[in-house]
Amino acid sequence: MYGIIATWRMAKEGIELADEMLKKGETSGSAIETAIRAVEDFPYYKSVGYGGLPNKEQIVELDAGYMDGDTMSVGALGAIKDFANPISIARKLSEEKVNNVLVGEGAEKYAREFQFEEKEMLTDRAKAFYRKKKKELDQELKPYDGHDTVGMVCLDQSGTVTAATSTSGLFMKRSGRVGDSPIVGSGFYADSEVGGATATGLGEDLMKGCISYEIVRLMKEGLTPQEACEKAVNDLDQKLKAKRGEAGDLSVVAMNNKGEFGCATNIGGFSFSVATQEQPPIVYLVTREEDGHCTFEEASKEWLEEYMRVRMAPVEE
Ligand code: ASP
Repeated sequence: MYGIIATWRMAKEGIELADEMLKKGETSGSAIETAIRAVEDFPYYKSVGYGGLPNKEQIVELDAGYMDGDTMSVGALGAIKDFANPISIARKLSEEKVNNVLVGEGAEKYAREFQFEEKEMLTDRAKAFYRKKKKELDQELKPYDGHDTVGMVCLDQSGTVTAATSTSGLFMKRSGRVGDSPIVGSGFYADSEVGGATATGLGEDLMKGCISYEIVRLMKEGLTPQEACEKAVNDLDQKLKAKRGEAGDLSVVAMNNKGEFGCATNIGGFSFSVATQEQPPIVYLVTREEDGHCTFEEASKEWLEEYMRVRMAPVEE
């Protein structure tokens, strides 16, 4: 069995590439890296890689994480600037014995040393969006709600599970702010003996529940990926509301080492993309019921077309 699951519609083209690779017997690590790079390279996704929205100082700072579930190797980057593919740097870092997590200037020095592609990641489109939002926010700059991290879990034919993330984080975040995405156990986690999970939403809240680790732990206890995702999201959502009065956006996907998958969210509008040996790449839209149970149905052709139309429409300032 093989498969790959990812947060959001934006992962669709990436998982199509990964699906082809997995079919041919290529490794989970290569497939997931290829899939995430495709999202990083697409200029119209404003929350990952090239074209990602900048922080408060109008600088694009990127976070990424990678975990190999066979060896438990982890590599992660926080607040790196001007490199095209943070996921590839994170994967390379996972091969090191120490210094697996690097931030800012140190991460950039490492990436330069290993000759990863350097690129100005702030696009004119992202600049226009920044100006527009800045006006709307009435001078008072706040992290913007429409953040979306790409997170993936991938299983290859040999049974290796990997998990990975890449993001420009919260729009208008403070310089140096690092979210959950490069934090192992929060943004991503993989254990080939069980499966993997990854998250998107408000990093500050996702971290409080180490949510990706929690999902893998629940799957290890015998829960299905769907049950584990729902329990982890609902428990954290309730706990945050009880202790803090509110819970940020929490959305997750998971796949176990049999290729079974699940998802959960505490918001409306969450989508995910998945392909397995048994099904072609499909985008699903998730609905959360009153009782916290989440169901999903395939996105219609109209929904998919509208999605791209909105993403590629000119930014009206
Ligand atoms: N979790 C990411 C962060 O807090 C943002 C997102 O997933 O949308 O940086």
